[in-house]
Amino acid sequence: MSREIRCPNCGQETLLLREPVYEGFAKVGEQRKCSGCGQIFATEDDVPYVSRKTTAVFTAKDRSAAVKVFEAHEADRLCRYCVHYTVNPFRQWCGLHRKEVEATDTCSRFERMPEPESEAEAETPPAKPLF
Ligand SMILES: [Zn+2]
Repeated sequence: MSREIRCPNCGQETLLLREPVYEGFAKVGEQRKCSGCGQIFATEDDVPYVSRKTTAVFTAKDRSAAVKVFEAHEADRLCRYCVHYTVNPFRQWCGLHRKEVEATDTCSRFERMPEPESEAEAETPPAKPLF
């Protein structure tokens, strides 16, 4: 979101400052104010944002990056990396769903196969299903 505002108090195009509001040591909220004159805007609706075309902020480049992240995430859940996946010369098998799968399938019950010699095992041992 754009931080540019046109402040009704000082009449300048300035930036919106967001400052944490503390009660004792606890952060209780956020205060919005003009970086030019310190005018405080009580709510988000009061902030006089300078309107810009939002498409300029969110470019095609950003979009494709987002898609790549999504794909990487999907690839992360491939059956071939799952602890329940077994493969032999005749079939690829999901031990959890007890059905044939493809190595490139994805699954909502995916559990990453622990890597040999991985220290990740010590932190988060994969939860074994109780059945
Ligand atoms: Zn101002």
